[in-house]
Amino acid sequence: MSIPSRMLCVVFDKPGSFSVTDVDTPRPARGQALLRVRAAMVCATDQKILAGKFPATRFPHIPGHEFSGEVVATGDDVALAPGTRVGVEVHVGCGSCARCREGMYTLCLNYGKRETGHAHIGFTVPGGLAEYVAVPAAALHVLPEEVSLDDGAWTDNLGIALWALERGRLAPGDRVVVFGPGAIGLCAVQLARALGAASVTLVGRGARLDRVRDLADEVVETSDVDRLKGIADLVVEFAGTADAARQAIVTARRGGRVVLGGSTGVGTELCGVDLSTIVRGNIDVLGSLANPKGVSARALALLARGAVDVDRLVTHHYDLDRFPDAWATFSERRDGAIRVMLHPAEESNV
Ligand SMILES: [Zn+2]
Ligand SMILES: [Zn+2]
Repeated sequence: MSIPSRMLCVVFDKPGSFSVTDVDTPRPARGQALLRVRAAMVCATDQKILAGKFPATRFPHIPGHEFSGEVVATGDDVALAPGTRVGVEVHVGCGSCARCREGMYTLCLNYGKRETGHAHIGFTVPGGLAEYVAVPAAALHVLPEEVSLDDGAWTDNLGIALWALERGRLAPGDRVVVFGPGAIGLCAVQLARALGAASVTLVGRGARLDRVRDLADEVVETSDVDRLKGIADLVVEFAGTADAARQAIVTARRGGRVVLGGSTGVGTELCGVDLSTIVRGNIDVLGSLANPKGVSARALALLARGAVDVDRLVTHHYDLDRFPDAWATFSERRDGAIRVMLHPAEESNV
C-alpha cells in the first residue's frame, strides 16, 4: 500500500481552538511503527488538553489517545509485519528509571522528556486523531483475532478499568459499587461482573444512565446515594468530582476498599470526609492511574472472550473530516452520547 505524503488530522492549534487540516505524513523513527488509524475516540481528557490544562502538551498538538490501527511501516529495528492490527496503550516510559523498572511506566520519572524515550501518546507526542500516526512499538498490543479494530480502540480504556479493579483486590463474591456512568466506569462495571462480583451497583445521573441500565445489577441516582452508605466491599470511582470521591469513601463497608480513579487533572480537592470513617473503618483508600504493567493485554484477552461489550458504548460514528460535529456531540452529550468514534475515510488517499 502506498503511503500518501500528506494526511488529514485534527490539530489543537492553541488552547481553546482546533482545526481539521492536512499535514505531512509522519515517518517511523527507530523503535517506532507507522499506523494507519482505523478508529479513534475522544474523551473528557481531550477537553482538558484543549483547555490547556496539561502543561506537558505543546501546541499546536495532534490529539487522540484512544485508538487502533494497522501497521503500514516500521523503523528498521521493529519486527511488526505490515497489516498487523494493533491497539495502542498510551503511556510509554523511558524504560530505565526506577518506576519503569518496576513496570510502573505510567509514573515514569522522565515524563514529558522525549529525548529519554518517554512518550505519552496524544498528550506529549502526536496522537491518533489523524489518518496516520508514528508511535513507539512499545505502545502496541497486537489485537486478538476475535477483536475488531473498532473494539481495539478500547485497549487503553479497558486497561485503566481493569487496573482499578486489581488495585482494589476485587474478589469473587464482592459487592461492588461503581461511581460514574462514563465509558471507563462502564468498562469497570462489566469487568467486575465478568470477574465474579456478586453484584455491581452503578451510581450516576443523566440520560446516559438510562441507556446502560442493564449493564449493572442495580442503578442508583446520585441524589439517592445515601442508601448505599457502608455497604460495599469494593467501591470504584470514575466520576472525577470531589462529591463522588467523598460519596465513594462513605459507601465502603468497614474494612472495605475504595479506588479513586476519576480525578486525573489537578485542582479537585477532597473535603467533607470525617477521617474516622477511614481510620476507624480500617478502609483502604487507593489512587489508581492509567494502565501500568501490561494490564491492557489482559484486558484485551477478556474482550476477546466476550466478557465486555464495548461496541454498545460507542454511541456515534463519524468520518474524521466531520470532527467538529463529533466534538460537539461528545462535549454536549447529545443524544446521551457516551463515546464518539472517528474513522479516517476508507482508502481516500491511496
Ligand atoms: Zn481518554
Ligand atoms: Zn521511566
